[in-house]
Amino acid sequence: MKDGGEPSVLVVEDEAALSTLLRYNLEREGYRVQEAHDGEEALLVADEMKPDLVVLDWMLPQLSGIEVCRRLRSRGHMRNVPIVMLTARGEETDRIRGLDIGADDYIVKPFSMTEFLARLRAVMRRVRPSLVEDVLSAGEISIDRSTHRVRRANRDIHLGPTEYRLLDQLMQHPGRVFSREQLLDSVWGSDVYVEARTVDVHVGRLRKALNLTGEKDPIRTVRSAGYSFDETFAIP
Ligand code: CA
Repeated sequence: MKDGGEPSVLVVEDEAALSTLLRYNLEREGYRVQEAHDGEEALLVADEMKPDLVVLDWMLPQLSGIEVCRRLRSRGHMRNVPIVMLTARGEETDRIRGLDIGADDYIVKPFSMTEFLARLRAVMRRVRPSLVEDVLSAGEISIDRSTHRVRRANRDIHLGPTEYRLLDQLMQHPGRVFSREQLLDSVWGSDVYVEARTVDVHVGRLRKALNLTGEKDPIRTVRSAGYSFDETFAIP
């Protein structure tokens, strides 16, 4: 866990379109992502980034996924890092070997993004539970990520999808100041063109929903810098 706490994932996949899609969806879920497109590159990037989790395609040019898995496991810092292998349908024998060589899970292609993300979270929860809590809470505000339910004290808070992701992002890092550009990237996605002012509009809506009856505002506006979730909020 580095840089404020988001889990980091190394995606090793030689199909560019799939790699990009995985990256996009993982980033939306709050993971930090780096890609490698062949086995040799995977080993180099793994040494450099020391990921919290590796998604490893079976069929790779040069070094196969199985060989990459074996070599990663022989590196001290990678011994306990979860490795999730991607295999093509029908590679039943391979997939058993995959588990034997120390992969923590395997996902058979083609898979849905929902399934992929759920399996990753399950692996993370098993190996590093603190990185992927189902419920985020700060003081009287809580987010249940499995049901997308947000509550303040005994009241349900109804948020639009953007406001929900904004709150989730801010609450993951209490006290950290996010610029509007950083929020655009993590909440809207880096390939979407939205003006920075849009962030202000959605933060406004989020505040209105959270502070319906004039309670303490958990979101701090930091002049000319951005927004943060007030780290003193949970302290009575
Ligand atoms: Ca492949």
